[in-house]
Amino acid sequence: MHLETRTVIEVPSYDIAPRVEVKPDRTALVVVDMQNDFVDPQGSLCVGTARATVPAIGRLCNFAHAHGLAVVYTQDWHRPDDPEFALWGPHAVAGTWGAEIVPELAPRPEDVVIRKLRYDGFYGTSLDHELRRRRIASVIVAGTVSNICVLHTAGSAALRWLQVIVPVDAVSALTEFDQQAALRQIVFLYRGTLTHSESLVASAG
Ligand code: ZN
Repeated sequence: MHLETRTVIEVPSYDIAPRVEVKPDRTALVVVDMQNDFVDPQGSLCVGTARATVPAIGRLCNFAHAHGLAVVYTQDWHRPDDPEFALWGPHAVAGTWGAEIVPELAPRPEDVVIRKLRYDGFYGTSLDHELRRRRIASVIVAGTVSNICVLHTAGSAALRWLQVIVPVDAVSALTEFDQQAALRQIVFLYRGTLTHSESLVASAG
């Protein structure tokens, strides 16, 4: 017999920093998987709340470009026979419309685009190299899905002792539980800083 359990619990409280100062030359913005398949209603794996984060992520991109922060995009990028499709169905197939980053957030020529195979943007990619060669110490992580590719990429950054900053209005998940679970892990486990997309300030020196 299959038993379904439903447990109601409280999310432990966490702080959302009203102001976060970043060093422009030591900080990178990492925009995770803002691709048509995840963001567009026509996408194969659309996250309902992802579209609502586009303005906040656009604000982060503008902030980063205005202050000279490195901007890195991750792009889920699968072969048509990827084993991940057994879990999620086909999505972000290499070279398709679904794999393209949404036009509102199209990368600039100077931005770095990292094509990735799994949830963790560092796994099997040049992300670590791109951050190290710029002597990056802090990453602002935005995008989707909060508890999947955002969390695994933020976690992998934290395990490398990078400071992790996550603007809560710039990440999205399939359910509010997933969103809250991800934010809790980022704060509690990875000692990241939660803030809003409008709360970043570039330090002078
Ligand atoms: Zn994938």
